[in-house]
Amino acid sequence: MGRLGVLGWPVAHSRSPAMHNAAFAALGMDDWRYQLLPVPPALFEETTRALGGSGLHGANVTIPHKRAALALASDASEAARAIGAANTLTFLPDGTIMAENTDAPGLIAALGGSIRGLRVQVLGAGGSARAAVWALREAGAAEVSVWNRTHDRAVELARDLGARAVSRPEAADLLVNCTSVGLSDPSEARSLERSATEDGGLNQLALTFDQLGEYSHVADLVYRSQPTTLLAAARAHGARTVDGLQILVAQGALSFELWTGRRPPLEVMDRAARVDEAGD
Ligand code: NAP
Repeated sequence: MGRLGVLGWPVAHSRSPAMHNAAFAALGMDDWRYQLLPVPPALFEETTRALGGSGLHGANVTIPHKRAALALASDASEAARAIGAANTLTFLPDGTIMAENTDAPGLIAALGGSIRGLRVQVLGAGGSARAAVWALREAGAAEVSVWNRTHDRAVELARDLGARAVSRPEAADLLVNCTSVGLSDPSEARSLERSATEDGGLNQLALTFDQLGEYSHVADLVYRSQPTTLLAAARAHGARTVDGLQILVAQGALSFELWTGRRPPLEVMDRAARVDEAGD
């Protein structure tokens, strides 16, 4: 028996409860539950410690708590420490809180093939970009370049994690969007044709439609039930794509295995995550 949940603020649109509860049902784990845990930043530490004391087995952590989760943990994995953030907490009966980051290996798992020797262009310099750059370097990428709207943040991230900051996205084998630019509100979706020819939506990522032809693989962390404009344009060029829900499922599956010791039913989790509009 185990109780799990996702700590966030806001967290109401999270797909994690649907994904994990579907996995419990598929494996006959009838006495396991995964719930939303909406907690505002000012109450995060106090509430999280209390939840551990109340018998909660573990929790995923999402915006804006990932750094605070690492800070309150008694012990943390090398990945969580290097990235500076945790998305998975495990509460032990003696009060110990363990911190892990499954976003990083989740991204590598979702990419599905070997990263060794690849040139990678990362877009963004926020929390998920830190996890992505660390994971890609660890997985043996030959070179990781970082572009961000606010260049100074790209410079800082690149310095911390052994990447290279660039002032324009460069040609590479793999492009990974770690910004929150989703480009798929209804007007953007309707204007895909226009974006493809006039580059409307892609401009926020300093890309043109033609430039997308320079990447054979494109991953977008933004999760939507419909493809983002970035992925739609990448597919139009024949690139292989990985969407944000595949990445969400991969990190969730690693957390699931860590807490339960069971092999996660990936297809069940993917279907459950896609049932409705997405959020993590
Ligand atoms: P974050 O720390 O807030 O970083 C946001 C990033 O987006 C920054 O680099 C920011 O650039 C950039 N950005 C925001 N608005 C922009 C705009 N209009 N034009 C250009 N750049 C813009 O967020 P995060 O935690 O890294 O998350 C980023 C995205 O990944 C979110 O959509 C999140 O939901 C998603 N995510 C998905 C998964 C998954 O499992 N699929 C996991 C984690 C996160 P500045 O520095 O210039 O502000």
